Amino acid sequence: MKWAEELLVETRETLRVLPPLEGTPPELAEFQRGSLIEQKVVSRKDYLSDTWCHMNASRASRPFTFRSWSVEAPGRACTFCPGSEALTARDVDTGGDTLRLGDHPWGLRLFPNLYPWLQGHQNIVETSSHKFTLGELDAEEEVRALRVMRELSLRFLAGGLFPVIFKNQGFGASIFHFHWQVGALRRPPTRIYREMVVADSFAHRWGLNMFDAIIEAERARGVRLIVETSTLFVLAPFAPRTNGEVWLICKGPMVNLGQCREEDLSSLAALLVDVLKALNSELRVENLCVALNQVPEDPAYRLHLKVLPIKSWAGAERGLEEYTVEVPPEQVAAALRPVLGGRRFVSASKP
Ligand SMILES: [Zn+2]
Repeated sequence: MKWAEELLVETRETLRVLPPLEGTPPELAEFQRGSLIEQKVVSRKDYLSDTWCHMNASRASRPFTFRSWSVEAPGRACTFCPGSEALTARDVDTGGDTLRLGDHPWGLRLFPNLYPWLQGHQNIVETSSHKFTLGELDAEEEVRALRVMRELSLRFLAGGLFPVIFKNQGFGASIFHFHWQVGALRRPPTRIYREMVVADSFAHRWGLNMFDAIIEAERARGVRLIVETSTLFVLAPFAPRTNGEVWLICKGPMVNLGQCREEDLSSLAALLVDVLKALNSELRVENLCVALNQVPEDPAYRLHLKVLPIKSWAGAERGLEEYTVEVPPEQVAAALRPVLGGRRFVSASKP
């Protein structure tokens, strides 16, 4: 697997600092050698881009440092709750929702985003019930939302547009009530475009789909694999941009939701819900984004979901696109694996 060296690019350095005049902080004592504190830094390149992730090994030995923001107190009036429908934008053609499933209360609503920045920008509110934690997510509600996303994706693709689908949950969402945003761009989203270029060049060089290669390389190592089903491969990626980042990669050849069968949508919804619940219960993640990565046509690409817990990105990340994480992906996978039932995939530790 010569290509694996290209996928798992890692550098290791030892950085040295003088301890403070008053003495070494206790958590760094074990890294002290003589009058210097030595700390190992592991830097890794993302499989699909030139994005680098930096991990300080001494930080990684500390307990998890997931930070939680209290985002909403129960009892506030909500724009997306039943009874507030008149506060949301109305569809030009129907004079109301683009789609509403169920009556009292409705089960799902699809309506225009009041502040659009995408072509055909709409909100899918997947449940009428106002939920407060990711632990309340429901697979049935999510599969219904995925069906609507598939329909909209097909419509955008038929019009020569790139579908854009994402979800903001908790901190970062302007409205807390669970919802997805769906729309389209006239060109590929920036990150997806970068990934397509890399995946195309990888396929050209090795005659192999890059996502299949990632799956094979990570299955062989086992340490970042969380769970694998007949249709999906779930892993903590080699070079995450945020603590607790998780990817769900479709194993089939599909590159967009439009190519998914009903059973593909069901398994995707069920596993996504399980992953989000596990992030919530095991790592106390409350605030996150989910991005659906799809393209119209490209055998070198693959439909996948990226789950990105919210972490405060500062100068290095925002200004320079150099990412630091405190929790290594191996630790994330080890925390989620038992809950998601992937124990049998644990194997010897290799970088
Ligand atoms: Zn609500």
